[in-house]
Amino acid sequence: MYAKVIVDINASALDRVFDYRVPDGMALSAGWRVKIPFGAKTAEGYILSIEESSSVPEEKIRDIIEPLEDYPALLPHMLELAEEICERFHCTKSVALRLMIPAQMRGSRVRVKTETTARCVLSGEALEQYSASIGKRAVRKKILLSYLSDGEEHSLKDIRGIVRDPNPLLEEMRQEGAVTVSQREVNRKPAVFPQDPKEVTLTPEQEEVMAELSDALLRCDRQPNQVLKRCFLLHGVTGSGKTEVYMRLARECLKRDKSVIVLVPEIALTAQMVDWFEGRFGSLAAILHSRLTPGERFDEWRRIRRGEARVIIGARSAVFAPVEKLGAVIVDEEHEPSFFSESFPQYDARQIALSRAGRENAILLLGSATPSIYSFAMARKGEYVLLEMPRRINGRDLPAVYIADMRKELSLGNRSIFSAVLKERLRRAVKSGQQAILFLNRRGYASSVTCRSCGATVKCPRCDVAMAYHKSDGLLHCHYCGETVPLPRKCPVCGSESIRTVGIGTQKVEEEVKRLFPDVKTLRMDFDTTRTQNAHQEIINAFRSRQAQVLIGTQMIAKGLDFPQVSLVGAVLADLSLTMPDYRAAERTFQLLVQVAGRAGRANVPGSVVIQTYQPDHYAIAASVSQDYREFFENEFSRRRKQLYPPFTIIARFLVEADDGAAAKAAADQLAEKTKAFFETEKLQKRLLFLRSDEAPISYIDNRFRAQVLMKLLNHPESEKAMARLSEWSGQTEHHISISFEINPASLA
Ligand code: ADP
Ligand code: ZN
Ligand code: ZN
Repeated sequence: MYAKVIVDINASALDRVFDYRVPDGMALSAGWRVKIPFGAKTAEGYILSIEESSSVPEEKIRDIIEPLEDYPALLPHMLELAEEICERFHCTKSVALRLMIPAQMRGSRVRVKTETTARCVLSGEALEQYSASIGKRAVRKKILLSYLSDGEEHSLKDIRGIVRDPNPLLEEMRQEGAVTVSQREVNRKPAVFPQDPKEVTLTPEQEEVMAELSDALLRCDRQPNQVLKRCFLLHGVTGSGKTEVYMRLARECLKRDKSVIVLVPEIALTAQMVDWFEGRFGSLAAILHSRLTPGERFDEWRRIRRGEARVIIGARSAVFAPVEKLGAVIVDEEHEPSFFSESFPQYDARQIALSRAGRENAILLLGSATPSIYSFAMARKGEYVLLEMPRRINGRDLPAVYIADMRKELSLGNRSIFSAVLKERLRRAVKSGQQAILFLNRRGYASSVTCRSCGATVKCPRCDVAMAYHKSDGLLHCHYCGETVPLPRKCPVCGSESIRTVGIGTQKVEEEVKRLFPDVKTLRMDFDTTRTQNAHQEIINAFRSRQAQVLIGTQMIAKGLDFPQVSLVGAVLADLSLTMPDYRAAERTFQLLVQVAGRAGRANVPGSVVIQTYQPDHYAIAASVSQDYREFFENEFSRRRKQLYPPFTIIARFLVEADDGAAAKAAADQLAEKTKAFFETEKLQKRLLFLRSDEAPISYIDNRFRAQVLMKLLNHPESEKAMARLSEWSGQTEHHISISFEINPASLA
């Protein structure tokens, strides 16, 4: 027998199938990972198929050395998915296959963890006889025997708690035939805080949504080949009980002996969603996110692969979870940019989910209070089935939103970061014992340090960005590369001493709250306070148990959190996300504001929201007052049509990075020429609406200069094919210039 093997080395020259002989007695099939001889060395490889013959001359074929696991790591449908990814992204097979197993599994950098256990095999009379045979002075042996005499398996760790240095004793007892010593696998389970959500009766709206979804599952079972509409978009306002729908759908899947994958934005994973799922599904649930240790991730992955865990909750990459009978993929907060991969291949987890659903006969449920423009457009076209839950649970109202015009505040002489209204409402909330959330999408204390004489801003020595001042350590931080420098006393350009910090960050907001309300306890949740593994969870738990009255944070606090006692939400400066160099700035702003507003008034206290802004008339801000998604959608959709933005077009760019600015720019110019010529020879000019080579908005990061070739293409199958070809030009060139090709990238910085 011969195996067709993909060698796990990412090089285009090796991106083909190699034949290896399967030694007699080695039972292998497609999807196994194997150790193989490769040149003078050994390598790891994936078996794509097993064949009876090979066209390679017998003497040139070498034997597989050994399997790397005792099971096939890749399921057949995952091999097919890898094939599709290669085609779509023009990547090598090994790159696509690597997405599907935990990184550390390659090169055996993580192993199954075992522990030694001992068990007494004697009982009844035999046990008594043996016990009597132990000399009076062998006290430790007696103690150990009585500990083990329950016949259970005890770990060496526990045994050490009973007697010191038990190994020689255990060995002695083993030789005397009284105990057996063995190894057992231990499961590294990530820390969870299961919270059993109370069993509720579904609202009529939830019932209706569930009826549709159950019906779809039924159709998948009965007529697997005829299910046309597999994708559902659940548009439910904040607090409409979407999570309950997800849990019911998961339960439906389990009832049908199927598994479910729940994708959530990375940050929501540390929030209560996981706790609820853990509470309801116990050990049937598995978690996959970036904060797991390699061992934890590997063990969770194996629990899924063995079918022990059937409800998988995870970030983007969990879409590759090795489940065998997929019933549904659920994507919560589907509008979040984090479902796009930032590294090559830049897949969209929602697209992969849809592809898996089709291939594995499952359904896809996308949920959001503020669906992405793309998904909602698909639903309106009838490609996705639209499900709506327009009301909050128990008929609670959406919180009333007040817009504080900061231009007016300024003209009235208020230079504080809080408008009069926000200050007053904050005072009332804390006085009456309620909780408040203050949201500002920027960490640190001040966003930059500027010279009042010459106007210069202190920039990172390595990046083309202003450095933010962090009061906690008194240093200037670069939020792109992490560089820190001391706060200069004088302007680095003109030497003037009148330099000052401008712009606010979460640290400043916290300081201001403490100054206004000295007795009020605050918590801050941002990148800086959540570096340790369970920090998110600890902050959330502290706030939920009311150890603090005011929570200040970045967009981390905008999502998925259900704090019943929060009556006031303040968006300290809503404009920050509007000024991003990105066609989605309005969409992001609206989504963030609605999400953060949705944290208020979730239980019995009515909620209020204050949005502070310098642009109260912007349609993204105005629509967040009514929290009217459709109003926003219509505005944004027609703007995109007029300005030729996605979903009407595709935005793509080559990002060129080089050690030298001129080299980057020259390479970009060259690429632009090449691109233009390509569209001409392929006779596709009419698909190309715009092409321009330029410096990137941030012209260098981490000492690498950045230039770009930005293009807009008509949304058309021909454009997609063209882009697949263009993506082949990405890679490293000899002068340490790297080129990456991005399609609708999550950030256009
Ligand atoms: P969303 O995700 O839509 O913002 P959640 O799923 O967080 O909303 O639900 C909001 C609150 O309503 C939660 O506290 C949840 O436990 C509760 N809830 C959900 N469904 C019901 C129901 N049918 N009856 C009573 N309470 C419910
Ligand atoms: Zn100066
Ligand atoms: Zn930097």
